[in-house]
Amino acid sequence: MNTLLNNEVLRSTEKLYYQDQYLTSTTTQITRVHADALELDSTVAYPEGGGQEADHGTIELPIGTLRFIWAKKLYGTPIRLEGFKGGKLGGIILHMIHPDDLHLLEQVTVHMPARVSIDALRRDRLTLSHSASHFLYAAAVQLRQELEQWTIGCHIKEDGARFDFLVEESFSAEEVREIERLANELIAHDDVIGNTAVQGLEDARLWSYRGIEIPCGGTHLQSPQRIGRLSVRRKRLGKSKERLICEFPEASTDLSIYREQHA
Ligand SMILES: [Zn+2]
Repeated sequence: MNTLLNNEVLRSTEKLYYQDQYLTSTTTQITRVHADALELDSTVAYPEGGGQEADHGTIELPIGTLRFIWAKKLYGTPIRLEGFKGGKLGGIILHMIHPDDLHLLEQVTVHMPARVSIDALRRDRLTLSHSASHFLYAAAVQLRQELEQWTIGCHIKEDGARFDFLVEESFSAEEVREIERLANELIAHDDVIGNTAVQGLEDARLWSYRGIEIPCGGTHLQSPQRIGRLSVRRKRLGKSKERLICEFPEASTDLSIYREQHA
């Protein structure tokens, strides 16, 4: 039992999205076949993490093409660095197979050659949204510093992002307007966004912009220009619980920066 568990912990998927964020496909092989998922030796698919939704895509195999509708990271070892609470090093990535394609799994074998590709438009939208969410967060913390300690969740989708906070007082309409103004002020600088690995640990990453540093392993833009104007609104979730939501109706996607890896 323990041996099996250790084996699970030690296996890891090579995360090509950290080597090249713009790679939309690669040739790899099957590492393990699960009841509803495939594990690959390496992948371009970003798994759900840090609030960012997972990539969608396809896995082409000699027996046919299977769609995956989610990717999730399992196992790994905790990052022992200040500020990286909850982060993990290594681990495996499961590509969750579309229900209509599950019947093909019984024909899949370990070491079978595979080509994994992601939906680049979805990735680009999630990357935009994720970057936008940091400007919302940075602006909110600039206004109320204590929010940094009282962030209880975030969700980054293709068309918007949100943060949930525990608060003593609800956000007033003036505060929401001020957060929106501060976020747009940051975006308007159109400076370089940094996204670097800390101490050579590929899973311990830092997002940085004009002196603001946020531990984050998500996918990001190189500058905020494509986000356009951010609109911010709040939602009351209950007693002492508030949600800030940002949307970016002017955002422009750019698929020209993405490329496939040829075998
Ligand atoms: Zn991030």
